[in-house]
Amino acid sequence: MKTKLMTLALALIAGVAFGHGGVELGPKGGRLLELSKDESMHAEVLVKDGKFHLTLLDKDLKPVKVTEQTITATTGDRKSPEKLEVAKTDTGFTVPVVKDGAWLIVQFKATPKAKPITARMEYDTGECSECKSPEWLCKCKEEKK
Ligand SMILES: [Zn+2]
Repeated sequence: MKTKLMTLALALIAGVAFGHGGVELGPKGGRLLELSKDESMHAEVLVKDGKFHLTLLDKDLKPVKVTEQTITATTGDRKSPEKLEVAKTDTGFTVPVVKDGAWLIVQFKATPKAKPITARMEYDTGECSECKSPEWLCKCKEEKK
């Protein structure tokens, strides 16, 4: 859990607000990212074939039809952000998996004119000593609810 605290501390320094102060998991066990200010849009992130698969989910965590929504994805730090190639799918987007311990930063736009919403997660694949899941999918917070 040390890594987790570090992550949280870093996130606070970076001015990132987590929805509920921890890792949230989606219906398929993937990492949930908040893509709205009011919990009306989320993305569930799962890794398959070397790619992050982002599935867009509504407020009830039901799949959303992907039409004019767009994302951009970057990794790396602020000084040297690295743009990632985004591909659109029927259910969301795919993005190449970032390096272990690196951040995935997603900017989501619901429509071409919408204000972009930024979500980010640290891709920490180290095993959590408590729940045995990779840290980026740590279930500990969920169980404590
Ligand atoms: Zn855990």
